[in-house]
Formats: sequence, structure tokens, C-alpha cells
Amino acid sequence: MPTMYYEGDANPALIARRKVAVLGFGSQGHAHAMNLKDSGVDVVVGLRDGSPRTDRAAQAGIKVVDPATAVDWADVIMVLVPDQVQPELYDEVIAPNLHAGDLLLFAHGFSIRFGYVTPPPDVDVAMIAPKGPGHLVRRQYVEGSGVPALIAVHQDATGEAKAVALSYAHAIGGTRAGVIETTFSDEAETDLFGEQVILCGGIDSMIRAAFETLTEAGYAEEMAYFEVLHELKLIVDLLYEGGISWMRHSVSDTAEYGDITRGPRIVTEGTKAEMRKILNEIQTGEFAKEWMAEYRAGAPNLLAARAAVADHPVERVGRELRPMMPFLVEKVPADDV
Ligand code: NAD
Ligand code: MG
Repeated sequence: MPTMYYEGDANPALIARRKVAVLGFGSQGHAHAMNLKDSGVDVVVGLRDGSPRTDRAAQAGIKVVDPATAVDWADVIMVLVPDQVQPELYDEVIAPNLHAGDLLLFAHGFSIRFGYVTPPPDVDVAMIAPKGPGHLVRRQYVEGSGVPALIAVHQDATGEAKAVALSYAHAIGGTRAGVIETTFSDEAETDLFGEQVILCGGIDSMIRAAFETLTEAGYAEEMAYFEVLHELKLIVDLLYEGGISWMRHSVSDTAEYGDITRGPRIVTEGTKAEMRKILNEIQTGEFAKEWMAEYRAGAPNLLAARAAVADHPVERVGRELRPMMPFLVEKVPADDV
């Protein structure tokens, strides 16, 4: 079992004595900044001039300054801009304004693990990575609970890196749920693997393939949508609550028998061999290199895929069906925090 930390393991006074800069006010940034503020921490948000997020941060009652000023002023700097933007922001804005003894925090190990950011030896470098999207990090905090988080220390110049990072986790609600100790490498590699083979890539691809199979066989698009996308949530909730046995116990015996006999024909030894290849591409840094090259070329494949999926029939029919389900709040990417 990895080491776990809870409320009593953190010293809230450590972060309360420091000045904190949160760089970025997106999914994670808004949640961290608002939770820190509500925990009584002295926090500013660093945003570029003219950033569309400036008004939102100001509305939340948080002071906004330019990123260089924020880094210079703070002793704890949490980097919550997109991973692909971090190397440039680090070189141009963070590095020139870092001071010996500062704590540089990340919410994902990508930049450090794959060598895109290399801080000087006289600063502390750690990670507090909530295992959930920012909206949840904020909502759980407001409700008096928290989202579990990972903690890792990459570099400990002051001898206090872990204690201050844990105090930060306490202030955003992480220790209420539990903070699990890991390393930058393990976090970065497992996080990428999970999102590629199951959480995002695997599930997306299965949904589209199953939808296409049903509709190409003549079944109604609406039926296919409910079957292969909508109902997924109900199954995932069961897995989340009690694992595979609880899910299998909750579905019918017919469904369970179909699961055990047909599942292995969908995810085969070949699929697992491909998973190992994908893991290897992550471990060697090949994936990181490919993604940074894509981003620096203007992300042509990413943008083309975004446009293409919006036109997929499963997306079109979903947009038509969701307004008929009053218990759902329509989510479109632009609505995102
Ligand atoms: P996001 O895209 O939601 O928000 C990014 C923010 O950075 C925005 O406020 C944007 O305006 C700002 N920004 C973009 N370019 C900038 C620049 N050059 N200078 C200053 N600000 C800039 O990002 P996010 O999803 O919150 O991710 C932030 C970090 O948190 C990443 O390291 C990510 O891996 C990690 N993380 C995200 C999640 C999640 O669920 N979204 C979960 C855990 C960890
Ligand atoms: Mg500083």
C-alpha cells in the first residue's frame, strides 16, 4: 500500500504563512484558487493581459495579476496552464522570477517527467494532483468534502517540500478524501496510459464502433445512443461503488453471462499487446514528443478530430436527445469553466 495522508497529517499553518500564485484559471485553476481563498490562504491568480478568464477570477473575488508578477510575489507557484503550454511559460515567465526556496507545484507530472521543464536545484518541486476534474474539486470542497489527490516530491531543496505541499492539499480539500504518495514518473505514466487506453481513447472508440455496428444493421439511432452511450453512466456508477463483482451482481444473469463470454472477444490478447505498445510509447517519451510536435505545429490533427467527431451521428443524435431528458444539464465544450 502506498502511504496515504489525511486531515491530521497536514499542518494548515504552513500554507497560511506563504503567498500562493495559481497560474491559469481553467478547470483546475479556478477550483484551486477559490478553495485556497476560502481556506484563508493569500492567493493571486496569474493570467496574461486580456485573458478571457480575468473577469471570472475577478467575479470570484480573486486578485488577478500578470503571471510574471504573480511568480515573483509568491513563494508557492502552482502551474495550472495546459501541459503543452508549460515549457514556454516556464522558460519565459516562471524561471526568471523564481527565488531560492520557492515551491513549484504541478497538478500533473508531464512537464517534469518528460524533461520539458527543469527547475534549478535551489527550489522545491512537488505535485498535488486531484484525481478529478476541477468542477468536482470545487463542488466537493464547498460541500465540506474533497477529491482524493496524489502527492509527489521531485526535488526537496528546503527539507519542507512535502509538508508544504501537503498543507496546500489540505487547503484545497484533498486531505479530506485522502492524499496518496507517488512519484512524478508513476503519476505521469499511469495517467497518460489510463486516458489513452480506457478513460478517453478506449471508451470513445468503443462507443463509436458499437453505435456504428447497430445503426449499420438498421437499428434506430436513438436506441443505439441509449444503449451504447447513455447507459454507460449507470454501469460506471456501479463499478465505482463496488467494483466488477458488484456491477455483475446488479445486472441480470443474462447480462452477466453475456459479459463473461463476449467481453473477452472484444478485448483480446491482441488488444492487450497493443496496450503494452502504448505503455511503451509513454515510458520512452515517444508519446510526449509526438504530442509536443503536434501542438507546436498548430495541433492540426487535434483540431480536425474535434470537428469530425462533432459531425458523427452519435454526437448529432445525442444533441437531439439530451434536451428531452430534463434531469440532464446540456454540456457543450464552450460551457466549460
Ligand atoms: P485548462 O485548459 O482548463 O485551463 C488552462 C488555463 O490556462 C486557462 O485559464 C487558460 O486561459 C490559461 N492559459 C493558457 N495558456 C496560457 C499562457 N500561455 N499563460 C497563462 N495562462 C494560460 O487546463 P486544466 O485542465 O485545468 O489543466 C491544468 C493542469 O492540471 C494540467 O497540468 C493538467 O494536466 C492538470 N490536471 C487537469 C485535470 C482536469 O481534470 N482538467 C485533472 C488533474 C490534473
Ligand atoms: Mg516568488
